[in-house]
Amino acid sequence: MVKETKYYDLLEASPTASEADLKKAYRKKALRLHPDKGGDPELFKEVTHAYEVLSDPQRRSIYDARGEAGLSESGGMGGMDPQDLFSQLFGGGGFFGSGGRTPGPRKTKDLVHRVHVTLEDLYKGKTSKLSLTRNVICAKCSGKGGKEGAVQTCTACHGQGVRVTLRQMGPMIQQIQQPCDTCSGTGEMISAKDRCKTCNGKKVVSEKKMLEVHIDKGMKGGQTINFRGESDQAPGVAPGDVIIVVEEKPHDRFKRQGDDLVIDQEIDLLTALGGGQFAIKHLDDRALIVKINPGEVIKYNDLKVISGQGMPSYRHHEPGDLFVHFTVRFPEQLDPALIPGLERVLPPRAPLEKFPKGIALEEVELEEADNRQRARADAGDAMDEDEEGEPRVQCANQ
Ligand SMILES: [Zn+2]
Ligand SMILES: [Zn+2]
Repeated sequence: MVKETKYYDLLEASPTASEADLKKAYRKKALRLHPDKGGDPELFKEVTHAYEVLSDPQRRSIYDARGEAGLSESGGMGGMDPQDLFSQLFGGGGFFGSGGRTPGPRKTKDLVHRVHVTLEDLYKGKTSKLSLTRNVICAKCSGKGGKEGAVQTCTACHGQGVRVTLRQMGPMIQQIQQPCDTCSGTGEMISAKDRCKTCNGKKVVSEKKMLEVHIDKGMKGGQTINFRGESDQAPGVAPGDVIIVVEEKPHDRFKRQGDDLVIDQEIDLLTALGGGQFAIKHLDDRALIVKINPGEVIKYNDLKVISGQGMPSYRHHEPGDLFVHFTVRFPEQLDPALIPGLERVLPPRAPLEKFPKGIALEEVELEEADNRQRARADAGDAMDEDEEGEPRVQCANQ
C-alpha cells in the first residue's frame, strides 16, 4: 500500500503502473494540459512534477512509503524545471511565460538568394549586381522603437516571442515553435503614442542594398557565395548572412560534366567517310575549327575528345576537356547510278545469313513507318535515357 496517491491521481495512473505506463500517462495528460493548448499552467506544472518524482525509482519508493512529506525531508523537492523535463521527453525548447527563458536567436535569419547563371558566364566569370531589400536598425530611435521606457512585455506570449504548438505524428509528438504574431516575435509591445514615427515601433526600417556578386570562372551549380552579416539587422542580435546559391542554367549545345564539356555534333556522311571540317562555337568569343583527316572515318555514336577545351576548374582555372559525341547525317536518297562507285570504294556487303534446311525463306516489303507506328515502336524505349522525338538512326554496321 502507498501512503498517498496524489501524484498517481494527477497522472491518472495506478500506483502499480510500470515506468512505461507512467510515461504514457504523463504524455497524454501533458498534451492535454499544455498551456499552449489552453491548459492551466499551474496544473501542468504539478503533473510534470508528479511525473518527475515517479519516473525516478528511488524518489518513487520514498513517495510510496512516506508521501510528499517524505520527499521534502529527503530534499527531493528541488528537481528539474518542469519545462526541461517536458522538453527532454518531447524535444524542443521552453515555452513558459513564467518559467525558464527561451534564448532568442543569436543571429537573424540568413537570406538565401538563387542566381541562375549561364554556362557562358561560368566559363568566363562575371560580376553582377544584386539588389536586395533588408531591415536595418532604425537610426531615428537607435533601434529602441520609441521613447525610453515605452517598451512593454507582450501579453500574448509573455515576452517569449514564440508560441509553441504540439502536433502528434503517429507515436511521436512534435513541438513546433512559431513566432508570436502579436509582437512579431519580439516579445515586446509599444503603445501607439510612444512609437517611433520613423520605424513605427518596429526598431528597424527596410533599406535597399546593392551587392556585387562575383561569379568566378569554373563555379558549379550549387556553390554558394557568402556575404557575412548582410542579412536583416535586428536589435540585440547579429545580422545573418546573405547566401547566394549559384544555379547553372542548362545550355542548348553543351552539357557540363564537372570540368569537362560534352557536345553532340552532327556531321554529314561525306565528312564522316572522307574527312573535312566543322566548327564549334565556344562559350567565349571563339569558334573551334575541327579537322577530320581523310580516311579517318567517323562512325555514328563515336566519341572523340579535344583536350583543354572544357570548363576552367574552380580556383586554379585548369581547363577540362571537350568531348565530341558524333552523329552522322545520312543523305535522304542516292542516285542508283552512283552505287557502283560506292561499291568500288566501300567494303563489300555482308553476305546473307545462312539458315538450316528446315527454315522457309520468305521475301517481304520494307515500308516507311508513319508517326503513329514510330510511337508504337518507341513506346518500349520510353524508359531509355535517349531524348525523345528524333527518330533513331540505325547504327551503320561495317
Ligand atoms: Zn508576443
Ligand atoms: Zn525608430
